[in-house]
Amino acid sequence: MNMTDTCTGVPPLEGTVKRGGSLADFIWFRCGGPAEWLVRPTDVEDLSQFLSQLDPAISVLAVGVGSNLIVRDGGVRGVVVRLPKSFAEITIEEGNRVRAGGAAMGITVASKARDAGIAGLEFLRGIPGTAGGAVRMNAGAYGREAQDILVEATLVMRDGTVEVWPLERFEYSYRHSAVPAGAIIVEALFEGVPGDPETIGAEMERIAAEREASQPLRSRTGGSTFKNPPGGKAWQLVDAAGCRGLTIGGAQVSEKHTNFLLNIGGATAADIEALGDEVRRRVFEHSGVELEWEIQRVGDAE
Ligand SMILES: Cc1cc2nc3c(=O)[nH]c(=O)nc-3n(C[C@H](O)[C@H](O)[C@H](O)COP(=O)(O)OP(=O)(O)OC[C@H]3O[C@@H](n4cnc5c(N)ncnc54)[C@H](O)[C@@H]3O)c2cc1C
Repeated sequence: MNMTDTCTGVPPLEGTVKRGGSLADFIWFRCGGPAEWLVRPTDVEDLSQFLSQLDPAISVLAVGVGSNLIVRDGGVRGVVVRLPKSFAEITIEEGNRVRAGGAAMGITVASKARDAGIAGLEFLRGIPGTAGGAVRMNAGAYGREAQDILVEATLVMRDGTVEVWPLERFEYSYRHSAVPAGAIIVEALFEGVPGDPETIGAEMERIAAEREASQPLRSRTGGSTFKNPPGGKAWQLVDAAGCRGLTIGGAQVSEKHTNFLLNIGGATAADIEALGDEVRRRVFEHSGVELEWEIQRVGDAE
């Protein structure tokens, strides 16, 4: 046990608990406020015990690597759970299956599948998040989404109970799942089809090259800002509304891909959110389309 704070109702943990733990240190935008409590459990049992003893009035939020997150400047009240490396194990199972811990990175899952001659998971190469984040967000690219490869996933619910959810229970739609607030995805079982490692590897390289050419991968960003509206492309609407390069404070609409917002230096989360709202306003004025945020915005304004 590293830290206990009985005064505030945060129960003991085998792993680490940090009061005021920084999220800006690792989330892609590199800005925003801290977690009231940043919790890193050692294993499923530890997480389950912790949540079962945590005051039900305290909110719980899972984070992966924050590649789809704006954390507001006032920080996140309650407990933020970030799964450590001990949750990043990946094993190959019979039937072209890949079992991945919630903290395993998509690129590593795709690479292990390639090495085992399992095709169909290549798209994860282009999504810079964790397996848990991909399952929660129904992350997708190149015509495939998490729902196309998921068999089942293990969740630790807010009350500490451990549940195995089959695919149907996620009620997937575009970038949306039925995973309830406070539940943590600790493991996912994916399934592909037999394939040739060289062909799979070539497809992964093609995806990587295409991403590099079209997305601001080396910038502080949060991925696609807005969902594509039915029958349209968010980036085209943003571009047509004249928002390419639009700047508020340290936040800018990417010149390379107009559905990406960037922290070009010293941006606050408020700058980024205000820029997103300004883009939505201009797009509505120009085309009558109300863009919906795809990036998850969490925490309190300062
Ligand atoms: C350069 C770039 C390119 C991108 N390209 C794509 C793309 O092509 N397709 C696409 O779909 N997305 C894309 N994204 C967005 C992002 O990578 C995905 O949404 C990814 O699935 C988020 O994973 P994460 O682990 O970073 O989750 P986070 O950003 O940390 O969290 C996202 C959401 O998932 C929840 N969450 C995270 N981990 C867990 C968990 N273990 N259990 C329960 N809930 C959890 C969080 O609470 C939050 O609601 C891109 C992002 C960037 C920066």
